[in-house]
Amino acid sequence: MYLFKRVADLQNHLRRARANLRSVGFVPTMGALHEGHLHLIRRSLRENQITVCSIFVNPTQFNDADDLRQYPRMPGKDLARLAEVGCDIAFLPFEEEIYPPGLDTRLELDFQGLDTRMEGSHRPGHFAGVAQVVKRLLDIVNPNTLYLGQKDYQQVAIVKSVLEQLQSSVQVVSVPTVREADGLAMSSRNSRLTEEARLAAPLIYHALQEVKKRVMRREEPLEDTTAWALHLLSVPPLRPEYLEVVDGTSLQPLSDGTVEQSERIVACTAVWAGDVRLIDNIIIKSENTRK
Ligand code: AMP
Repeated sequence: MYLFKRVADLQNHLRRARANLRSVGFVPTMGALHEGHLHLIRRSLRENQITVCSIFVNPTQFNDADDLRQYPRMPGKDLARLAEVGCDIAFLPFEEEIYPPGLDTRLELDFQGLDTRMEGSHRPGHFAGVAQVVKRLLDIVNPNTLYLGQKDYQQVAIVKSVLEQLQSSVQVVSVPTVREADGLAMSSRNSRLTEEARLAAPLIYHALQEVKKRVMRREEPLEDTTAWALHLLSVPPLRPEYLEVVDGTSLQPLSDGTVEQSERIVACTAVWAGDVRLIDNIIIKSENTRK
């Protein structure tokens, strides 16, 4: 496996590799790699000749300084994991490589309402930071395909919209969420959970599964279902921030009047488990769901 910390070195390497017409898959991460990340990397390895994984804790997408400071960092362990799965290239850039002084990387984009709710309303500036770093990383790596986790459902929708607006030819593959045996979505932040919070956290996915069942049965108003789930999740150390049933494309909240017409329905939630904020979602209906 090759390790690069400088943009120029990575690009020189990729330029040579591309001479042999190789397809490049790209998996951007913030490190503290777990099986969820490795799943994305394995998928890219299967579908491309070269896989690049970046590890960069992007400061511009953190709206909370404590969260940024406490974000787990373990580059040695991460590199060992990447080598183990057979990743071709690890890119661990210095911050000044991503944001060199004098380079204006800000983006003036319209997220077309995808950022107004859920993560967007609870983490001001978060998606502007995500779009900025994704655009910058794509400009550097220039991959054919970008692999993203469905765990960050809203992020996938926003990145797809950004790429469309930029008329980018990069394909986006959204990979299903990898979970612990008890249902908890794998996340780098899980390592910060206290024992008590870790024990309580599987209730998040349990609540989402229950919401899915209730929405599919349509026996009660949607509002009652979300109120029920929020109540279920309000047992300390859990504290829900939001749980919404939304249209999977527009990300606008659904009501009893609109839920029938929606082709794709998703329930998304953010829950504090002690002082760690976790997000998760479940697809209730997709284009492939049998009627
Ligand atoms: P992060 O390091 O948290 O920024 O995540 C990097 C990529 O891995 C993002 O596209 C995430 O959506 C994806 N990811 C994180 N956790 C999981 C998981 N449990 N299953 C699948 N993908 C994940």
